[in-house]
Amino acid sequence: MEINRIKTQRALAPTQISLADYVINPYRGCSLGCRFCYVRFNKNVVRRKQAWGEFVDVKENLPLLLEQELKDISPKRVLLGSTTEVFMPEEERFRLTSKIIKILAKNTIPVVILTRSPLIEKYLPLLCYSLKNKIYFTFIKRPLKISQPLEPKSASWQRRRKTLKAIIKAGISLRVHIGPFIPFLDNLDEVLKVMPEGIREIEVEIFNPYLGNWPELRKILTPFADAPLLQNIDILYSQKQPYNEFCQELKYSLERVKKRYGFSCRLLICPRSKFYTPDIIYEPPAGNPF
Ligand code: SF4
Repeated sequence: MEINRIKTQRALAPTQISLADYVINPYRGCSLGCRFCYVRFNKNVVRRKQAWGEFVDVKENLPLLLEQELKDISPKRVLLGSTTEVFMPEEERFRLTSKIIKILAKNTIPVVILTRSPLIEKYLPLLCYSLKNKIYFTFIKRPLKISQPLEPKSASWQRRRKTLKAIIKAGISLRVHIGPFIPFLDNLDEVLKVMPEGIREIEVEIFNPYLGNWPELRKILTPFADAPLLQNIDILYSQKQPYNEFCQELKYSLERVKKRYGFSCRLLICPRSKFYTPDIIYEPPAGNPF
């Protein structure tokens, strides 16, 4: 793992992601190195020609810059971690994320955090300063033989379940992000069965294959998944109709989930041929769950 201490030009970057008006990524790269990660297709990462998961740039001047920028900018809400895991193990050493949260707290600027890491548990007391703070926590249950090759350094679903409980106990607004949901391989009912009491919001994000990452994932999964299942995924992602039918069926499933569990549910689907669209509304007005 290559760790580089770097200086960044700015802390707050305007974002089109509908969760916030500014984003902060205290690290570049990610030591968890999930094999499905979309960030590795980012042009800056591709240009770098280093394996994803093998480098972390630590933006060590970022907290200082943030303090300066907040004299001129008043964000409505800040998103932490759109292109990195802000609670990767390196955070224990460099503490950039915790410094940033402290600065945002001091200025009462709400924060949205995207994470899959149980390390966030240590920081929950820090995150109670605003009712507008929210944690999007990634959780999915897969058999170990599948999850291990896909996300070798992530915590197990059992460990992440404990983190969900801790967030609920801390009373911080929470949405469970189920993703990337790989059609046929993942089973929504299996995930929901192990969801702890107290969850109010979930979202399911269908695996996005449009940057060419399915063939590579397929290779990784071939020793562990049944061949007919993988062929079904091939068909789904190569033809429009089966894909649309699958999305429609998943949508119906989520409507049933909503009735059965009382969750608010979102289904996140990227349009075919696009990697990301700012049209995705994560938090629509009440009464419009999809
Ligand atoms: S933790 Fe998030 S940012 Fe890091 S590799 Fe996994 S998906 Fe990508």
